[in-house]
Amino acid sequence: MSKPVRVRFAPSPTGPLHIGGVRTALFNYLFAKKNGGTFYLRVEDTDQNRFVPGAEKYIMESLEWLGIAPDETVGKNEKFGPYRQSERKHLYKEYADQLIKSGWAYYAFDSAEKLDELRKIDEANGKTFIYNHSNREHLDNSLTVDAVEVAKRISAGADYVIRFKTPVGEILELNDMIRGDVKFDTNLLDDKVLFKSDGMPTYHLANIVDDHLMETSHVIRGEEWLPSLPLHVLLYRAFGWEAPKFAHLPLILKPVGNGKLSKRDGDKLGFPVFPLEWKDPVSGETSSGYREKGFLPEAVINFLALLGWSSGTDQELFTLDELVNVFDLSRVNKAGAKFDPEKNKWFNHQYFQRADNAVLAKDFSHELLQKGINKPIDFVTEVVRLVKERATFASELWDLSAFFFEAPIAYDEKASKNFKPETEDLMQQLTVVLENILDFSSENIENTVKCWMTENEIGMGKIMQPLRLSLVGSLKGPHLFDIIAMIGKEETITRINKAIENFK
Ligand code: GLU
Repeated sequence: MSKPVRVRFAPSPTGPLHIGGVRTALFNYLFAKKNGGTFYLRVEDTDQNRFVPGAEKYIMESLEWLGIAPDETVGKNEKFGPYRQSERKHLYKEYADQLIKSGWAYYAFDSAEKLDELRKIDEANGKTFIYNHSNREHLDNSLTVDAVEVAKRISAGADYVIRFKTPVGEILELNDMIRGDVKFDTNLLDDKVLFKSDGMPTYHLANIVDDHLMETSHVIRGEEWLPSLPLHVLLYRAFGWEAPKFAHLPLILKPVGNGKLSKRDGDKLGFPVFPLEWKDPVSGETSSGYREKGFLPEAVINFLALLGWSSGTDQELFTLDELVNVFDLSRVNKAGAKFDPEKNKWFNHQYFQRADNAVLAKDFSHELLQKGINKPIDFVTEVVRLVKERATFASELWDLSAFFFEAPIAYDEKASKNFKPETEDLMQQLTVVLENILDFSSENIENTVKCWMTENEIGMGKIMQPLRLSLVGSLKGPHLFDIIAMIGKEETITRINKAIENFK
């Protein structure tokens, strides 16, 4: 029987979660749900130097906002806890020791200065220094220093690291669920540091130990970790553990040109690359977030799902549940996926149209109240229904609908030419027609006004444009008779009279 599906998102809390990280979390979530498995979040905070306060909370809040919260994490179903690596610190030493004992790792005492010096010498000779099989027998480590001396140094508190002893001359033929077979020559690998004398494991050791102890079945992560794959697979071999299956997701590329979409690109190019707004605790600099920019979580999810994955059909709009149903790692592309900010907005427009008018109206009412406008919720809901088709974000509602709430204070200059000398008389006649309408519904107003125009042989353009200009202040807006019905007879006539005065 195959192992139950358990996948993880393992961010390091070094700052806000980049959209690439969110996509990794999403694909893990989809894979877990599709396969009836578990999606857990492990906080990889072993690198104390890069720890940023608030980042962990930010990551959790982002996933919750997007609706892809993990099943297990810090403070939630801690079946395999703790879920923060800093709280698992006591676990790792024994595993590092185990590798020393089995000959898969060794102590290295080389000082940072010494390694720097060697680096410089190699650089001067056009070479890159790597601590590996070719020079480890000549450096200051437990392969060259005898065991008694090693023990003496360690008990005297000497600084050391534990390095992995990479096997020599082997071609590793590994499988990636997205890339297929990938080969690595172990001679090209360096002997990575696994553990430091400050008692902290490095990412590589902690990651493998935890993936094993937390029973991870599949590792789905960004392509930037592909170079670590051979080391990770060798570590599983060294421990005698069965390795999980691996899938490395394609990079997310800049909208134009080449290269990875960076944390800095977003605000530079005018779109967010973070789910939530982030204020850097050190620099105080603020980076914009999808939530605050008015994106709907469903739109962000849908957009991200299609960054590097395709359903194989023309369908573009998917709810999270639909994505769970159709998601398949085999349809993830190998090539990088270009980030398209316009498409991003298109998705928001689509979901904005589907959003519940009453819900949108509730938020919009708050905005109106701040402007001193207090209208019944049904009225605001109807306004939202009438204008939303032109909106991509809730923040656009006011500009699209202000005339429902207040008379225009100015008239669009270009459009003003529609108010001709003969318009005044026609508008005056129109106010009489409107005055006499009893059933002031959009349909009835439209029928009555159109009948009056036909009977008097008045052309459409002579009435409709100056009328719109009088009510809206420009030639924009939804169906004119809907506006008239909404603002009511009295206000309509007042606005027409005001325009007549203005254009006299
Ligand atoms: N902590 C690593 C990161 O920040 C996790 C990489 C992995 O998923 O193995 O991306």
